[in-house]
Amino acid sequence: MQELMDQYTSSKISRALLDEVIKLAKQFQKKFQRIPAFMEVCGSHTMALARTGVKKALQNHIRLISGPGCPVCVTDQATIDAMISLTDEENRIICTFGDMMRVPGSYGTLMQAKANGNDVRVVYSPNDAVRIAEQNQQKEVIFLGIGFETTIPILAAALKEAEEKQIHNFSIWMSTKLVEPILRHLLNNKEVALDGFLLPGHVSMVMGRKHFEFLAAEYHLPGVISGFEAVELLSSLRRLLMLALEQNALVINDYQSVVAEDGNEHAKYWMNRYFALCDEPWRGIGTIAQSGMDIREEYRHFNAKEKFSVPMRSPRKTKCRCGEVIRGLIDPPECVLFAKACTPLNPIGPCMVSSEGSCAAYYQYMREE
Ligand code: SF4
Repeated sequence: MQELMDQYTSSKISRALLDEVIKLAKQFQKKFQRIPAFMEVCGSHTMALARTGVKKALQNHIRLISGPGCPVCVTDQATIDAMISLTDEENRIICTFGDMMRVPGSYGTLMQAKANGNDVRVVYSPNDAVRIAEQNQQKEVIFLGIGFETTIPILAAALKEAEEKQIHNFSIWMSTKLVEPILRHLLNNKEVALDGFLLPGHVSMVMGRKHFEFLAAEYHLPGVISGFEAVELLSSLRRLLMLALEQNALVINDYQSVVAEDGNEHAKYWMNRYFALCDEPWRGIGTIAQSGMDIREEYRHFNAKEKFSVPMRSPRKTKCRCGEVIRGLIDPPECVLFAKACTPLNPIGPCMVSSEGSCAAYYQYMREE
């Protein structure tokens, strides 16, 4: 009964908020003679906006552009190929998050490598991989470290456990990314005109509200940190519209139950203890200086890239336009393969595989039948 009451109350609030958001969007359109364009940075927001129906309800009023916040989607093809090639040795166990299993490499997927008899395991946390290493000391256990600031502290926790337990057959193949450098890159290149950002709740939980103040201070754009429920998304869009209407460049925390001004100092300490900034390649963009984190020199014995080499083959070219989707240049239906050759059952690119991918979100919730 309470659950039903909560749902009823929340849908009434959502309705009222939606009406207000539409009203504000119309005011914006009247004032600036165009539809406001906001980028949701985080892949979980992309999925939440589609799943809750917020994106569809607002499609004629706000241009919601999916940003580069899905970790699997932004990983470049050569890295995906290298990770799949890692499975080719008999004395290795490759551990990964489930999202990676079906990501198409140029010459197959991790799922196919597993079907071919290679030891590829899905784990819920990198610490699970440390325990697998502990139980299989005659084998090398490699964790595929893909993710943003939310994942890096978890990778640090695994290295801490491996260090404390003196586990020498565990390592991580790092391909982590940071949000600030990619946002700077997109803004500096002015590829998409934006009126503000819906900022990622989870990354902000680690990095804090202040971390995003550069958007206001240097780029004169507002940003609102949001939660993931319909009411939270609509509330944040309402605040973002109010800021954009007044050309008021502020970064607001609308997810205060979770996000603090300075983030999580403990998590940041462990990130910086094990990892240092490095240049990272991004799908469809190229290498951006200091846009990721790699294992510090003093912990290089945990760095799979130092321990193992893989044959580098040229990535196979496809018509997949994930690179443009990630940069907000096109919406998924503009890709000729969308919902035809490329579907969740037969994905051509990572944006259709990942649970945070724009193409998957469009396919599941926005597609016209
Ligand atoms: Fe790539 Fe498929 Fe998305 Fe096209 S629809 S951009 S092929 S993932």
